[in-house]
Amino acid sequence: MGVPLLDLKAQYVGLKDELDAVWSDVMGSAGFIGGPRVKALEEQVAAYCGTKYAVACANGTDALFLIMHALGIHAGDEVITTPFTFFATVECIAHVGATPVFVDIEPGTYNMDVTKVEAAITANTKAILPVHIFGQCVDMDALNAIAEAHGLVVVEDACQAIGATYKGRRAGSLARAAAFSFFPSKNLGCAGDGGVITTDDEALAASARKMASHGSSKKYYHDTFGTNSRLDSLQAGILSVKLPHLDEWNASRRAAAAIYDEALAGVGLDLPVERTYGEMVYHLYIVKAASAEIASKVTRAMGEAGVGTALYYPLSLHEQEVFTKTGDALPSLPVSESCDGRTFALPCFPGITRAQQDEVVAAVKEALAH
Ligand SMILES: *Cc1c(COP(=O)(O)O)cnc(C)c1O
Repeated sequence: MGVPLLDLKAQYVGLKDELDAVWSDVMGSAGFIGGPRVKALEEQVAAYCGTKYAVACANGTDALFLIMHALGIHAGDEVITTPFTFFATVECIAHVGATPVFVDIEPGTYNMDVTKVEAAITANTKAILPVHIFGQCVDMDALNAIAEAHGLVVVEDACQAIGATYKGRRAGSLARAAAFSFFPSKNLGCAGDGGVITTDDEALAASARKMASHGSSKKYYHDTFGTNSRLDSLQAGILSVKLPHLDEWNASRRAAAAIYDEALAGVGLDLPVERTYGEMVYHLYIVKAASAEIASKVTRAMGEAGVGTALYYPLSLHEQEVFTKTGDALPSLPVSESCDGRTFALPCFPGITRAQQDEVVAAVKEALAH
């Protein structure tokens, strides 16, 4: 039958009437940019994450960039981050002229190894940018303590972790500011691109908002150069309909993950490790094969069986050509490098059925046995 990596159509069918009403209202009102829908969504997101402010913008990449800019991070500064993430995490650092400094990850959670952060701090370090990878929070108390001891600011890349918790608090409320993406495949996705910044810092929120609006707080008056990073009313309306369902969808992902944990125990793959300090929202259910050859054999067989999969991530960021071509010495990050070509996703979306999961498990086991 085949199982997709992600089934977004099922989500639409369940909310069709409400979502279609948003579409026709927006078309009828002809108010496409900003306006009350965007403001309402910002309030909803801030309340959901437990922050004072939320600032909507065009996408998660911009959310990260706007935060870096608002923090005044610039050329000569260093920002400590993880090599095992989507490329946007380091782009925001590069685009304000700063230098990403990579620390290795933990096996199992694939999150930044907080115990390695202190050794990476130099006189130029300004910030730490952890990523709650695959929907699991980094150990933020430990990280924030290091940052505080060294006078550094911490920013969460929470693009994969909306709804994830850490000691009872939500991702997005665990550091100075956080970036979320509403790309369609994220746990809360819109019908195009979208993003939001969450923070308790009023000045940061105002600065990011101004930057996102051409450096202007009053229309046609500009006291700095900004950019254009807006969320459409349509996207905001869609997200407002979907957000009340997010916890239920995340619970469905967690239930599906628990089924894989049991069904795949002992088959020879490293299964995701979940820390006890919070709830992971399984943006992706990632398994690690014993070698790149085995990973490629299994993913090929899954493809032939019509089961969706992909490598996350095929190549650690410090090994990407954009860094290697400079000729600078590469950091040695063995845990992250050990994931190259070996970590891949199994379908784990809200509403996946037991029969679909059985099919995935059978395809994986069958491939491993040959
Ligand atoms: C998706 C993602 C981003 C970027 O979000 P966009 O909305 O696609 O710009 C940044 N960081 C991580 C970890 C992501 O998964």
